[in-house]
Amino acid sequence: MKKLKFSRYNTMFCTVASLALLASCSSNDEAQMDESGLAVSEGFALSGDDLIFNDFTAQCSYVDGNWSSTAYLNTTMINTTQTNFIYAQNTKIANVFGQAAVTLKMVHDNSNVNSTYNAISYSNPKKIYFGEAIYVAALAKGQIVPAMILAHEFGHQLQYTYNLPSKKESTARPNELEADGFAGYYMRKPTGYNATWEQAGPGFEFAYAIGDNNTTSAGHHGTPPQRRSAARLGWYLGNYDLSASDFDYNFFYYYDNVLSGSYRTTTPERIDPKIDAFIKSKMSELRKIQSGEISAEEFINLGN
Ligand SMILES: [Zn+2]
Repeated sequence: MKKLKFSRYNTMFCTVASLALLASCSSNDEAQMDESGLAVSEGFALSGDDLIFNDFTAQCSYVDGNWSSTAYLNTTMINTTQTNFIYAQNTKIANVFGQAAVTLKMVHDNSNVNSTYNAISYSNPKKIYFGEAIYVAALAKGQIVPAMILAHEFGHQLQYTYNLPSKKESTARPNELEADGFAGYYMRKPTGYNATWEQAGPGFEFAYAIGDNNTTSAGHHGTPPQRRSAARLGWYLGNYDLSASDFDYNFFYYYDNVLSGSYRTTTPERIDPKIDAFIKSKMSELRKIQSGEISAEEFINLGN
């Protein structure tokens, strides 16, 4: 049994005096502040979806400062089917990028369920916390959607590991759009989710229409049309086998073209001519997604 360790946060918020429960909170490695590492929080806005929650037994465990004081962690994702599904996805996503799976846990909060409408990827130690509320809302749109969100979060893990994105802006936009791109890549890969666009398109529309228009705020995730075009670009790159760093290089080569509307005439050596010819044949579509000329509904029906 692990040595008992009580952080001041556990003590502060723990009102249950049972020794058994205390032991159960304190043996949780995650019940401490993540002080040294980075944490990318999606900070999703709540949608109007009706959320249905399972009745979980209350536990005493403080998660960290990114979640409410009454939140707690466990490894049950809604039910056994979802738990098996999402842990299998967690391994598959990591394997597609030649990585080992990272710790994945669900955050619950019985007294403030809406506070778990978020997913967070942490750098040190590497872990992903998936909020119950966003999982439930995503699942209501289809089984593929929680997998997409997880792939986006794993994209942030790749950024931590490989010091990506290579492009920096004054907001989180390149980090977030690249994570959308990684999810698009994973969804298409035959060794990944192996989805058709018919399956993936509506999922992206749910997951990435959550973009924001606060283009100067530090947490800016890209506008909804930019998130669609980033996911679509990643989807196209999923036709090829790319390392995380090569994905980044390709993504930002075309990202510049797609987002700024400028077009580079000289293709750098590191870009594979086959990929270049293919992506350039899709560039007009990507621009139209980004500009909003292709509507959300048309986006869903773009086809492979
Ligand atoms: Zn993100």
